[in-house]
Amino acid sequence: MKKKILFMLSAALLFGACQNKDLSKDSNPLLQTWDTPFGTPPFEKIKVTDYLPAFTAAMQEHNDEIEKIIKNKEKASFENTIAAFDYSGELLAQVAGVFYNMTAANTNEDIQKLEEKIGPMMAKHKDEITMNAKLFEKVKSVWDNKEKENLNQEQKMLLEKTYKKFVRSGALLNKDQQEELKKVNGELTKLESKFGSNQLKETKAYTLVIDKEEDLKGLPQWLIDQAASTAKDKKQEGKWIFTLDNPSVFPFLQYAENRDLREKIFNARVNRCNNGGQTDNKEVIKQIVNLRATKAELLGYKTYADYVLEERMNKTPKEVYNLLEELLKYSVPAAKKDVLELQKLLAKDHKGATLEAWDWSYYAEKLKKQKYNFDAEQTRPYFEINNVRQGCFDVITKLYGLSFTPRTDIQVYEKDVEVYECKNEKNQHVGILYWDPYTRESKTSGAWCNGYREQYVKGEKKITPIITVCFNYAKSPSGRTTLTAEEASTVFHEMGHAIHGLLSNCTYPSTGGTTVPRDFVELPSQILEHWFSQPEVLKMFAKNEKGEVIPDALLNKINSVKTFDIAYGMTERYAAAYLDMEYHVLSSKDKIDDIIAFEKKAMDKIGLIPQIPPRYRSTYFAHVFTGEYAVGYYSYVWSEVLDADAFDAFLEAGNIFDKTTADKFKNEILSKGSTDEAMTMYKRFRGKEPSIDAVLRNANMKK
Ligand SMILES: [Zn+2]
Repeated sequence: MKKKILFMLSAALLFGACQNKDLSKDSNPLLQTWDTPFGTPPFEKIKVTDYLPAFTAAMQEHNDEIEKIIKNKEKASFENTIAAFDYSGELLAQVAGVFYNMTAANTNEDIQKLEEKIGPMMAKHKDEITMNAKLFEKVKSVWDNKEKENLNQEQKMLLEKTYKKFVRSGALLNKDQQEELKKVNGELTKLESKFGSNQLKETKAYTLVIDKEEDLKGLPQWLIDQAASTAKDKKQEGKWIFTLDNPSVFPFLQYAENRDLREKIFNARVNRCNNGGQTDNKEVIKQIVNLRATKAELLGYKTYADYVLEERMNKTPKEVYNLLEELLKYSVPAAKKDVLELQKLLAKDHKGATLEAWDWSYYAEKLKKQKYNFDAEQTRPYFEINNVRQGCFDVITKLYGLSFTPRTDIQVYEKDVEVYECKNEKNQHVGILYWDPYTRESKTSGAWCNGYREQYVKGEKKITPIITVCFNYAKSPSGRTTLTAEEASTVFHEMGHAIHGLLSNCTYPSTGGTTVPRDFVELPSQILEHWFSQPEVLKMFAKNEKGEVIPDALLNKINSVKTFDIAYGMTERYAAAYLDMEYHVLSSKDKIDDIIAFEKKAMDKIGLIPQIPPRYRSTYFAHVFTGEYAVGYYSYVWSEVLDADAFDAFLEAGNIFDKTTADKFKNEILSKGSTDEAMTMYKRFRGKEPSIDAVLRNANMKK
């Protein structure tokens, strides 16, 4: 996943269990109170061998804190139970904060080995806490008596979150049901991991080997070089090998003139794990879908979709279906129009042929060239990485009054990492930002924003956030690293997450920052990308080496290209989201006979055309069948609706830096964490519920 967010380190989310009593607090830097500027991690002192003992000790401390809550003789109250539980595990959060950031940004074999050990330790610990009957008894007592306590909105939200965390893990079930749930969870974990490893195996197993130079026609040189080097790695020097990894198969489909080869690799891609044998995923899907339905029913929900959506901004399957069906009404007809245009181009090359799915990307690329003569590389000289970062900082300053000053006195884990102190307009400290831009061996791929420490209030003390943004840009040996427009836009995206963390103004660890529902978390990031697309913003910082501002002609091209061929991407995403839903509104009694027929029926319902497959077909839809994004694929669609609608508030104000609108967005959303229902907060900002109008208008689709 290119844009991901890993905010999961708030103290209350981390649970632990280990019997080792050796606290070794004096010598282990991870366990000490950090006497550094703003309590930032003392990276220079931390050794890999410090992690395991630190986790063990911190889990023990967390257990002791929980034991104290349980043993408290006073009647259970919000303060002595819910708040105390939320503040518990602070030391574990400190240790995990460093460790999990290093597993992503600065890893090595030793850390990977440790990860395999620590992952199950943490999972076990979490389970032991959510299944702790004595602790739940206290939590339930506070929940049952909540009307007697005079709780504010944030406290009400925290109480509900905490109570539901236990209930949704099965705390209200009887012993037999709990055993059954454990069994279901165990089987699901195995099947989900099997799905993922099957997909990986079939993706890696396939190669398209080319040994005739004429078959490379149309391909750009960099792709040919890449294929030659893959062949060399696979001991087939002198040939060219293309694979089903995205950076190989997608450009091949986009540029390869040889239609038969396009068809071949396309079919290999869309039939992954649908070929029979050990790595076929069709039976795995049937079992996963059935077990998820069983789990939801055990916990008292009608379907798995109902179970998942309860905690989202879209609360019911009906709301999600309405959203998707409404959007498909516009995207499918628009895609059909595009088919006609592409068909004309195809007819020139292949008389009498009909446009097929493996032709789309190739002829769309040709059409784009004809219409705009645009190449993403043309913009690169104008997006020097430090200018982009500063441009993004300046936009944030203009909108929210935050400023960023470099700090060279704060330790880093890698020499290319820069540190900035974030201050508000009164020049008060807000938080710390690590900026880690370049790709390297020790870093996992993609771009992300994460936290070392989140904002909350403890007694009189305001704990300030420590946030990091990481990218994988190739560092230029010339010293002037430049980005494509898309890469530069990603800087704005991740910085949007960062200010969601930095501007947080909440009391409890579990209600602050980015602890919001999954279908709300991308609003702050995606909305900031809209500023990047504004000519007045680009002119602030997009300058080439000579200092010349990006010309209007290029700006116009960037804007026109944005909506080119947009119906395809929208339709394939909506189709995948629809497919995800169809599997999860089944009951445990519904039996799927044939996965491929089930998928076909679902896609026929929405009138999907044969030239567009869903973005992921069932047998390789890892988002959905390896756990994380089940009943969640729609959230990508919903986020687009939200950010377009929210940005419209600035457009309607007639000024994209309108102070009143920016203040409202800051006060009602960016600083509020999950202290209220997401829809309530959104309506407070926007004065209405979001509508799909802005998405359609931005895509040039008439309503
Ligand atoms: Zn994001």
